[in-house]
Amino acid sequence: MSSDRASPSTNESSDSTTGSSLLEVKSLKTQFPTSRGTVTAVDGVDLTVERGEILGLVGESGSGKSVFAQSIMGIVDDPGRIVDGDIQLAGESLLDKSAGDLEALRGGQLSMIFQDPMNSLNPTLTVGEQIAETVRLHQDVGESVSLPAELKRKLLGATKNSEAWRRAIEMLEAVEIPEAESRAGDYPHEFSGGMRQRAMIAMALSCEPDLLIADEPTTALDVTVQAQILDELRDLKDTFDTSILLITHDLAVVSEVCDRVAVMYAGEIVERASARELFSNPQHPYTQGLIASTPRLDAPDDELTPIQGNVPDLIDIPYACHFAPRCPEAERECFEVDPDFREVGEGDHEAACLRRGPEERRL
Ligand code: SF4
Repeated sequence: MSSDRASPSTNESSDSTTGSSLLEVKSLKTQFPTSRGTVTAVDGVDLTVERGEILGLVGESGSGKSVFAQSIMGIVDDPGRIVDGDIQLAGESLLDKSAGDLEALRGGQLSMIFQDPMNSLNPTLTVGEQIAETVRLHQDVGESVSLPAELKRKLLGATKNSEAWRRAIEMLEAVEIPEAESRAGDYPHEFSGGMRQRAMIAMALSCEPDLLIADEPTTALDVTVQAQILDELRDLKDTFDTSILLITHDLAVVSEVCDRVAVMYAGEIVERASARELFSNPQHPYTQGLIASTPRLDAPDDELTPIQGNVPDLIDIPYACHFAPRCPEAERECFEVDPDFREVGEGDHEAACLRRGPEERRL
């Protein structure tokens, strides 16, 4: 798909107050050299996140969603690197920043939570100590994160009446950890899976980020806990005035909490719309396939139709529309011509498909 296929989308969020996007990603391309060739995990992505909105980024495993998030955070695994494009946060390019500036940004304006909090929480410190440490670092009064756990504990333990400790308790209360004051003294392994994820959210929001990236934050949790945490995320977004980029393979999660949705397939965004518009009027054949293969809460007995085939190997994809080999509507041109974005519905609803959009532009 050509990188000039679209200008960054404008949004439908009526609560955007500044007129400029909080996050603006332009023509982003992230690649990994391998012994078999170059993997292009993110292939010319244009995307915006507006202030005060939750944007869902949805797609199957292997579509490039997580590498996209890592690219924004500046934590792409070696030897991967961003080879083209730009990422602007509040008007400043993140790609121009030094490693030190990016590190500071990750503790402040930018924050991320992952699917498995056990990989992100330090097992040797209590939950309260870890949140207090984040608060102290954000306030620029904390000690280095590289200090040994024992020393951190002494420093933090000596300041349990400190502002940072009080803030840690408040944050645990905000994410509805019961008896937050006493549970702050527990270690991560003493929390249930849902409580650990809540603690991660508390830690991520304790530095009051402008943008929170949540990568499959509820996938490992049972459905009831998942629903509670999604509700909390939505409430916390308003309380802390944080925008959220929610990355998931789960359309039900998207329909539950997102204002807008971008659908990603094989490294590319293929459709963007408000959540309501996307679910009521999906246009791209891939989005239609995703919806047809997802159980509906309001019609659990409906027959599901899986999408045939698998996400392609992202090494040198030889066909223009990446979805062409799986698409029930594919024509010969789909393998040869890059689909550009076209208006396909209400508001800023756009899809990158040669067989959609104004009649005169369709195949
Ligand atoms: S109709 Fe063609 S361009 Fe559209 S998704 Fe299918 S293969 Fe791609």
